Amino acid sequence: MQVVRTKADLQHLLDAHRKAYFAQHGHLSSHIGFVPTMGALHAGHLSLVSAAKATCDMVVASVFVNPTQFNDVTDFDKYPSTPEQDINLLAGAGCDVAFMPSADEIYGKQGGSGKPGALIEFRFAGLDDRWEGSSRPGHFSGVALVLSKLFHILRPTHVYMGQKDYQQLAVVRQLVTLLDFDLAVVGVPTMREPDGLAMSSRNVRLSAKARAKAPALYQALQSVAELATRVSADQACQEAITKHLADPDFQVDYLALVHPQDLAPIQQPDPSAGAVVLIAVWLDGVRLIDNLIIAPK
Ligand code: AMP
Repeated sequence: MQVVRTKADLQHLLDAHRKAYFAQHGHLSSHIGFVPTMGALHAGHLSLVSAAKATCDMVVASVFVNPTQFNDVTDFDKYPSTPEQDINLLAGAGCDVAFMPSADEIYGKQGGSGKPGALIEFRFAGLDDRWEGSSRPGHFSGVALVLSKLFHILRPTHVYMGQKDYQQLAVVRQLVTLLDFDLAVVGVPTMREPDGLAMSSRNVRLSAKARAKAPALYQALQSVAELATRVSADQACQEAITKHLADPDFQVDYLALVHPQDLAPIQQPDPSAGAVVLIAVWLDGVRLIDNLIIAPK
């Protein structure tokens, strides 16, 4: 696996690959799979690499803690960083290229106190003003900005993203459609620990006591999915909170049943579209998010 730190080196490498592939396969063009990450990698990230390898002849993973998507400086400062381990894990998973740029490489040197990329803002009407969007103002704008830049730099044919960040996946699908990026967005199922906790880079920040309580998020999601077949979503969420998240160590930001496309709150799963249960909870100073997809009937 090659480790690349500059845009120019990455573009040079990918151009050479595209040319060689075309020379070898004639009319067929190379499938370049892209797995964007913020590092501190775990098996969930590696499942995205595996999904990309199944379809693509070249897989590039980026490891970049994107400053523009953090509205909370402390969260950014505390974000875990394990670059050597990330390189080993990506190489072991069969990734072809790890792109590990600095913030200056992506955003240019910032003069004065300007926040990188603050001159461009994205809005995703209806999608970014609720759930993560209302709890983390500017978050999805920063995600859309960095991904737009990375899509232009790499020109991937496929991007692999986790269903774990369900709203992010919906925003990226809208970004790709609205800006005519010529690439397929592939959503990959959430990898969980044996006790049900969704794998996340933030889990390492949980104390042992908090880690032991964290599976309650998944239990609450399952309760809502089960209860919503019989009672209204509002009642289902209330009951799930009382049953699983009553411990004062939990601060529930939201727990809701939503439509799978526009993420608007609904009271019952839509028989033809299904539904998604979304949750965000503060536990031990760490904000955890998760979701459960309810398939259509
Ligand atoms: P992050 O490094 O947290 O920005 O995540 C990078 C990508 O990995 C995103 O597309 C996430 O949705 C995805 N991801 C994170 N956790 C998981 C998980 N437990 N299972 C599958 N994909 C995940």
